[in-house]
Amino acid sequence: MVQLIPSSDEVMGILKRTGAFREGHFVYPSGKHTPHYFQMPLAFRYYDTARVLAVALSRLLRIEKEISSALPKIAIISPGPGGIPVAFGVREALSAEQIYWAEREEGKRMFRQYVQKGEVNPCVIVDDIIRSGDAIQETVRLVEELGAKVIGCGTIVRFKSAPDQIAEDIPIKSLVEFDAKFYDTGDDCADCKSGAPVEHVRF
Ligand SMILES: [Zn+2]
Repeated sequence: MVQLIPSSDEVMGILKRTGAFREGHFVYPSGKHTPHYFQMPLAFRYYDTARVLAVALSRLLRIEKEISSALPKIAIISPGPGGIPVAFGVREALSAEQIYWAEREEGKRMFRQYVQKGEVNPCVIVDDIIRSGDAIQETVRLVEELGAKVIGCGTIVRFKSAPDQIAEDIPIKSLVEFDAKFYDTGDDCADCKSGAPVEHVRF
């Protein structure tokens, strides 16, 4: 039977196959150690895979009444470059009218110049992965500064340690909820103890 929304295991299978989910011994720029790493753009480099993931997420979002009733006059918003292919895929699946994406300039997240107050439709924020939720929170503030309303949020992967809702009552929909394991330093890290070689990751 064809599943309308793929299971978490099926999505993890896609992420493993494309190299977007990696197992090993990784060190983040913060110094934290972890035995797994998501490099999500590797899943979005294949058009067919990108479409499967974005369509699946769009189905989770469409279930929300506030989103389905506002279509097509909604904006799909990406907090950064990683979410852009997700935003375009979800927009396509929902026939939403607008897409925006934020970028970081000199440490501050912002939209491109000349996006005016009052032009932005009610917003659905989407991303490829939510690790801490900080990017989403900053994007909620950006949207609110533009006088627009956030009506939904979705991601391909959400770490269970991240918030599961934004703006008090808007659930963060995700295809995978991942129980991420971190060690604050190498002293606590099981892979360091076993002498496994380290890979440094940039994000
Ligand atoms: Zn380690």
